[in-house]
Amino acid sequence: MRIFTAALATETNTFSPIAIDKRAFEASLYARPGEHPATPTLCTAPITVGREVCAREGWTLVEGSASWADPAGLIARATFEELRDEILGQLQAAMPVDAVVLGLHGAMVAQGYDDPEGDFLARVRKLVGPDVLVCAELDPHSHLTAKRVGAADFLVAFKEFPHIDFVDRARDLWAIAVRALKGEIKPVMSVFDCRMIDVFPTSKQPMRGFVDKLYQLEKTEPGVLSLSVIHGFMAGDVPEMGTKIIAVTDNNAAQGAALAEQLGRELFSMRGTFMVAQVDEKEAVEAALRAPKGPVVIADVWDNPGGGTAGDATVILGELIARGVQDVAVGTVWDPIAVQICFAAGEGAEIPLRFGAKSAPLTGDPIDKRVRVRKLVRDAQMRFGESFAPFGDAAWISFDGIDVILNSTRAQSFDPSLFSALGIDPKSRRILLIKSTNHFYDSFSRIAGEIIYCAAGKPYPNTPATTPYQKARRTIWPMVENPWAE
Ligand SMILES: [Zn+2]
Repeated sequence: MRIFTAALATETNTFSPIAIDKRAFEASLYARPGEHPATPTLCTAPITVGREVCAREGWTLVEGSASWADPAGLIARATFEELRDEILGQLQAAMPVDAVVLGLHGAMVAQGYDDPEGDFLARVRKLVGPDVLVCAELDPHSHLTAKRVGAADFLVAFKEFPHIDFVDRARDLWAIAVRALKGEIKPVMSVFDCRMIDVFPTSKQPMRGFVDKLYQLEKTEPGVLSLSVIHGFMAGDVPEMGTKIIAVTDNNAAQGAALAEQLGRELFSMRGTFMVAQVDEKEAVEAALRAPKGPVVIADVWDNPGGGTAGDATVILGELIARGVQDVAVGTVWDPIAVQICFAAGEGAEIPLRFGAKSAPLTGDPIDKRVRVRKLVRDAQMRFGESFAPFGDAAWISFDGIDVILNSTRAQSFDPSLFSALGIDPKSRRILLIKSTNHFYDSFSRIAGEIIYCAAGKPYPNTPATTPYQKARRTIWPMVENPWAE
């Protein structure tokens, strides 16, 4: 067998002002054929798992390019077309192939393309014809368009949010592909549209139980090969935005459709109960001051660069300053200009500095302080599970009992090691203010005395009922109370 693999991925918040081009991919991951490292990033596990699988089976794996950009705003048209056509050219050169196994994210939006992955998959299908197996791994924060479903034989999404299972799901994808190529099964996809949009952390109920049930059904239901929930991505204003269920069965579309509908209606019945309760910045600071034991982690859940926002909002920090709170460490505030000024001033310098709140409206005001530059680190990194996440050149500044890490590359606060990377002991502080919706939980919960989820300002469109969508359907919950009424 001869199999082609490649990856093309990012997550686009169409409301974000952080437009991106090829440089954003080069800053995160841009690997030409054969250059992909042994460790996968979020959406490139089909490549690294494919190496293992094909070595074991004695099959030929032809690697195309792999690109990943950190979530941001709209992708430049020329960038998407260049990355897409590069992979299509590699596929054409590799033909004939028996299968195409791709790593996608599924929430890309480019100038002129509401459905870049649909466009890409349709071109792949056109190139290889109807008989070659085409499959892909997706992030559940994606848009499952009819065009994608029509072009691919099957799709598998991460089940966990935080996405700790991206390698395991790539193994699922390959396991199904291998059995299909050996003629043991014929995967077909059935989809149910839940007519809703929500946020579904699997670190808590009720989604924990729902996902555990999916694992169980995959093991026990004869003929069921894979079950995925496409959570949807509410910050992507595209026509087919919303939550969907995918059931992949062994050539039994009716069985898949029935199961997908049953699961989808169950999910719909729990709408509005999935997300963790959030408080505003005033309540968050009050609660942090009341907490008997630190460090108290305040998560700025909606200024999460992992969801495409800038990561420079100052609403909560402004409240801490106004209340005169001390013994606080903030990680991070994205501000490349302030970082540049700190590097020019040097470690130990005391300088007047304006930082934060530069990139989007309703994210607070820039902060003006006389600060001491405590530590400067080039190309700083934090841990993220088994791998590392870069956050660029970073400066630790302090003023009035508050320490702030400024960074030059946008990154969500995955792990407390972002503080230690600059020499701050996160366990020694009373309050840690971080920017992340849910990915932080696994690592920060191990050191936190308490965790407070704070919704502050309006950096992210987190209330779909009132978000000014131009393209997304308005016939789903919570835009309408009952989307099932005719
Ligand atoms: Zn995601």
